[in-house]
Amino acid sequence: MLNDYPYLIVGGGMTADAAARAIREADPKAPIGLIGAEPHPPYNRPPLSKALWKGEPEDSIWRGTDQARVDLLLGRRVTAIDPAARTVTDDTGAVFRFGKLLLATGGTPRRLPLATDQVIYYRTYDDYRRLRELARHDLRFAIIGGGFIGSEIAAALRLQGRTVTMLVPEPGLGARVFPADLSGFLVDYYRGKGVEMRTGEGLAGLEHRGGKVVVKTTTTKEFTADVLVAGLGGASGAPGGQRHRGGRVAAHEPSGHLRGRRRRQLPECRARPPRPGRARGCGQHHGAGGRAGDGRAGGPLPPPSFLLFRPVRAGL
Ligand SMILES: Cc1cc2nc3c(=O)[nH]c(=O)nc-3n(C[C@H](O)[C@H](O)[C@H](O)COP(=O)(O)OP(=O)(O)OC[C@H]3O[C@@H](n4cnc5c(N)ncnc54)[C@H](O)[C@@H]3O)c2cc1C
Repeated sequence: MLNDYPYLIVGGGMTADAAARAIREADPKAPIGLIGAEPHPPYNRPPLSKALWKGEPEDSIWRGTDQARVDLLLGRRVTAIDPAARTVTDDTGAVFRFGKLLLATGGTPRRLPLATDQVIYYRTYDDYRRLRELARHDLRFAIIGGGFIGSEIAAALRLQGRTVTMLVPEPGLGARVFPADLSGFLVDYYRGKGVEMRTGEGLAGLEHRGGKVVVKTTTTKEFTADVLVAGLGGASGAPGGQRHRGGRVAAHEPSGHLRGRRRRQLPECRARPPRPGRARGCGQHHGAGGRAGDGRAGGPLPPPSFLLFRPVRAGL
């Protein structure tokens, strides 16, 4: 296997796919390597909580990254980066040299304080397949969090006729991004669809009892569930929490495009409409046409210095 890439991408999501295509456009011949932790090639995540539950075929999610003649190095996680030697090492011990390196590792979900496979941190195609299988059975599902993912999964599970409870610390659904009346309307709407809505009620603790997960809430009540789906948002997924000269290691575009992309990932950003004449904006989340949330930010990337390795401040 070729282990020396002029362009190496770490991460196997939509951003990695978009970057690989842009690089291919700018440089038609150079080898491009993409190292992804998931066993699957890049796919669209939005359908995992929407279209697939409404009958869209699973085949529709694949982004066809291989058509850009990219070496897909899948099922391996990068664990170390040596910027001086221009190498990365993966969890099999394989070492890859790079000319330019792009980190497109996305985020990792916030964890709940209970280690059990009855909690699903819903992000991946494999999470979809697992939840879809569980939804075939008459189980009790609890959703922790009233943001986009939590709300979409609650709706998806109700579409399958499942018993669903939502624990939402805010007074309404999407309360951080929607005005109060819309957020409250959604609560009533979900109730009308048969979801048990526990709004204004936070999570105080979790425990296992008799094969069930017991959810303790801040109103000193508790309820049980067979499966918990956590929709709590996430944090940056830079490999192994890598640090480099006092800052996080990050792939960064001088033009700030990456900042833009990161900004668009923020839940509070996702409800804003795109501005005319600008790159795809947050409003693509549920927008009509195009590929929602496809991570393309600002058109073709300018060669040759668009992939820089430099420390950035936490939170950028
Ligand atoms: C269920 C769901 C529905 C969504 N719906 C919408 C929507 O409707 N609209 C919208 O705008 N956004 C939506 N989003 C958010 C959108 O999908 C994300 O903004 C987008 O997936 C971010 O893409 P990414 O490639 O930057 O990161 P990610 O999707 O997080 O992908 C990063 C990839 O890198 C891999 N990786 C991480 N660390 C390493 C490592 N060290 N080595 C190798 N590989 C690594 C991960 O396994 C992962 O495959 C949704 C997200 C989910 C989970």
